Amino acid sequence: MALEEKREKRPPVTPMMIEEEAALRNGSRGLPPGPWAEAAGPRPRTTERHIAVHKRLVLGFAVSILALLAVTMIAVMLSVRFEECGAAADGPPRAGGNGSLSGAARQPPGAGQPPGRPEEEVRGGEAAEEEEEEEEEEWQRRRELPPWARPRLPRHLRPLHYNLMLSAFMENFTFSGEVNVQLEVRNASRYIVLHAHRMHIDAVRVAEDKLAGGVRVARTFFYPQTQVFVVVLNRSLEVQRSYNLKIIYNALIENELLGFFRSSYVLHGERRFLGVTQFSPTHARKAFPCFDEPIYKATFKISIRHQATYLSLSNMPVETSVFEEDGWVTDHFSQTPLMSTYYLAWAVCNFTYRETVTKSGVVVRLYARPDAIRRGSGDYALNITRRLIEFYEDYFKVPYSLPKLDLLAVPKHPYAAMENWGLSVFVEQRILLDPSISSILYLLDVTMVIVHELCHQWFGDLVTPVWWEDVWLKEGFAHYFEFVGTDYLYPGWNMEKQRFLTDVLHEVMLLDGLASSHPVSQEVQQASDIDRVFDWIAYKKGAALIRMLASFMGHSVFQMGLQDYLTIHKYGNAARNDLWNTLSKALKRVGKSVNIQEVMDQWTLQMGYPVITVLGNETTDNIIVISQERFVYDRDTKPKDPARGDNSYLWQIPLTIAVGNTSHISSEAIIWVSNKSEHHRIPALEEASWLLGNINQTGYFRVNYDIRNWRLLINQLTRNHEVISVSNRAGLIDDAFNLARAGYLPQNIPLEIMRYLSEEKDFLPWHAASRALYPLDKLLDRTENYNIFNEYILRQVASMYLKLGWPTNNLNKSLVQASYQHEELRREVIMLACSFGNKHCHQQAATLISDWISSNRNRIPLNVRDIVYCTGVSLMDEDVWEFIWMKFHSTTAVSEKKILLEALTCSDDRNLLNRLLNLSLNSEVVLDQDAIDVIIHVARNPHGRDLAWKFFREKWKILNARYGEALFMNSKLVSGVTEFLNTEGELRELKNFIKSYEGGAAVSFSRAVETVEANVRWQRLYKEELFQWLRKSLTQ
Ligand SMILES: [Zn+2]
Repeated sequence: MALEEKREKRPPVTPMMIEEEAALRNGSRGLPPGPWAEAAGPRPRTTERHIAVHKRLVLGFAVSILALLAVTMIAVMLSVRFEECGAAADGPPRAGGNGSLSGAARQPPGAGQPPGRPEEEVRGGEAAEEEEEEEEEEWQRRRELPPWARPRLPRHLRPLHYNLMLSAFMENFTFSGEVNVQLEVRNASRYIVLHAHRMHIDAVRVAEDKLAGGVRVARTFFYPQTQVFVVVLNRSLEVQRSYNLKIIYNALIENELLGFFRSSYVLHGERRFLGVTQFSPTHARKAFPCFDEPIYKATFKISIRHQATYLSLSNMPVETSVFEEDGWVTDHFSQTPLMSTYYLAWAVCNFTYRETVTKSGVVVRLYARPDAIRRGSGDYALNITRRLIEFYEDYFKVPYSLPKLDLLAVPKHPYAAMENWGLSVFVEQRILLDPSISSILYLLDVTMVIVHELCHQWFGDLVTPVWWEDVWLKEGFAHYFEFVGTDYLYPGWNMEKQRFLTDVLHEVMLLDGLASSHPVSQEVQQASDIDRVFDWIAYKKGAALIRMLASFMGHSVFQMGLQDYLTIHKYGNAARNDLWNTLSKALKRVGKSVNIQEVMDQWTLQMGYPVITVLGNETTDNIIVISQERFVYDRDTKPKDPARGDNSYLWQIPLTIAVGNTSHISSEAIIWVSNKSEHHRIPALEEASWLLGNINQTGYFRVNYDIRNWRLLINQLTRNHEVISVSNRAGLIDDAFNLARAGYLPQNIPLEIMRYLSEEKDFLPWHAASRALYPLDKLLDRTENYNIFNEYILRQVASMYLKLGWPTNNLNKSLVQASYQHEELRREVIMLACSFGNKHCHQQAATLISDWISSNRNRIPLNVRDIVYCTGVSLMDEDVWEFIWMKFHSTTAVSEKKILLEALTCSDDRNLLNRLLNLSLNSEVVLDQDAIDVIIHVARNPHGRDLAWKFFREKWKILNARYGEALFMNSKLVSGVTEFLNTEGELRELKNFIKSYEGGAAVSFSRAVETVEANVRWQRLYKEELFQWLRKSLTQ
């Protein structure tokens, strides 16, 4: 699963997305015509499957009558459900209130707790209720939770195979289903407990396999707290026998983007609908009754009946299609291999597609709305998918497991993408691309999302984590491979060695440096906790730890280990220890002995990360002292777990270290640091030589040195920075800024380091500096001496800005590969120059905006549009704001809309900012997901920070109601609005605010308090020190 990610933090930066208007043009400036161009051609839909015409046509009439009856019955039942909602909501059977049920508040009337009792073989009424009460008392006497009330499913049953038959009624957005589950009994029991949520169950039948006669059902009920459906039998199911459970049900194809949901788009002025699924992590239970935990892998045979004007898709290819006379068709899909419920998927839509085939014969299709397919917006994705399947098959030495892979581009989706096996779903903006009008960043985003989802076909679909605590096992791998896979596609970009640092490592260390962080493996008890584990710690820290592991194992041994791991566990589940064991064995085979489990447990089960301090000893020969402690930004905060002070944190750290002098750096040595403090002998340590730790920043930790060593490093950078690698230059910058921010290092050191940048021609160190400066800038931007800081930064940027200049026109895309680094560097420097007030930069932006307004032609280069818009709005008068506002309304291109909207937040005019904040809550004007960005961007503007903060508090009820369910959005909002508050007064306001409202977003708020406390502490302790140094430095 890929979460929405923004690659940049500085002024509104959003890559170009699909420009619908311009995309209709046949781009002559497209990517170099690749070999996929021939392979991918539109095909008529009817060729895609074997068509079997129903032989018993005589039945056609009867079937259509039955269908009509079914629809009528469903409609009647639905209306009954709505009428009975009041009663149903009050009385879930033995529910004891609905407090713990996360979805309770947004349930449609009557859903989750349908009032109707299954019709067959079920006793209803008072007798059943009495029996229920007695049973509960019995469990209480035994001091045990009844099997349906436990957070995990009881383990006495195991599903082996599901036969699922669905009918989708797109005209009224309902569906009906019949599921037959073949069950294996491990322990005798009278209960069948499985997940089912927000559906109406019509009938239940249990039969012993291969024998006539059923097992009588005593009663059935929903238990909404754990989202299960319980079938109580008259007698126990017997061990080692197999039974068939049949359930007939119906439900809504909901508007909410989870379970089996609907979505729509407009084609030729007509609204068209589609139905698609999102089951991860716990929503399969909304589409069919099932054992909805990853460990219950089973095989599935799915059939979908729908109107013939639609087509249906699922994980496997269609085996046969049976047409009925009345315009309905049933698609029968091949049986899946063993798999988890949350990777199951289907869709009912009228998309078209293009296809290609891999060397190994896997058929890859991209399905999207017909207009997008026609103009070739899916061809880029299709082409790289084919190449990536070949890459992964070669890298993992495990073939792709299914005969086909469909990529489905949908207009709306709760995540950027979801890796369902054989049917991966992407939101359109993350897969469709028109190469002639997309910026490099947009192309990069699309590429990385696809690389991510394809990695999951192995890490996730084929080998699935046992339980959600180890979600990082699949997400960390997929995130890490985004960089490895992109390097395969674009070898010159050096993603894994370079961009990984700024986008993953530096980014997550900010978050994980808070005392309120959490370990990458997190305990998960109940369904409502599961969404919480899909956060940046799981994705980014997971990826950073995997990269560290690959690096200390050696990449080829690591790759061998992964091949073994996938081969051993394919079609099954695995926990982190399974991975550690396999990797340890791989190491042993090459004669190395490291207990990987012991090492990695410290990194995955402890939160945070260490800072290593290297002290060169000047008196004794070549001895250095290496110590470790937990890095935290606010060293005054009490540890989250009071039983465990920061002092007890200890890691086994693979510290790589090298010695350098003016023209040379030694090869690296690895030192395993496992104590608080250790002495080590370093050969050839001379008077003028410096030490450098964490070579190429492959380790997940920071390194600090004595001041003498920092000085030597600064000298080295100034004289000849190329002796130190690009990634270490970026690493030194990031470490220095963050060590200073947390008070481990004097404030002037990072600013002295960045002086060498005037000679730096590589993108990565500039990018690292720009990102590291950002929080410092926000700490200072409302102080009276801000101009001193501003002046200092401008001086560092000026010469490179002059050297690079502005891009003259839009990029020639055939040069993307070669010019990526150069264009990104130019963009970074222009961004710094304009946001710190370089006069030429301002003039240039104003000229470009004026040209646009007077000519009504937008000639602003794509890669810097966001910078120019923002600068124009902040410098120029209100007319420009109005012009951008007008363009925001008139443009139909998603990406352009977004950067125009963000530019509006750059104004100095508080009235305009207030107006914008108020408009942001109007869904007609600003999309729900964009409103959050408006508020956050206003908060980043020093003129708007207090306005956004006030607005946030006043509108919290509305905002929380809107985003409270989507934890990821909610925490983004809370941290975005609060992260740069930095006065005692604001800290008080924050604490009072948290006190005054009840519950919700507690984790985000405790993180916010800690961040603001650290900001206030920095202001109190270090601000003056910094200004003093700056003053002195500027007068020199
Ligand atoms: Zn993922």
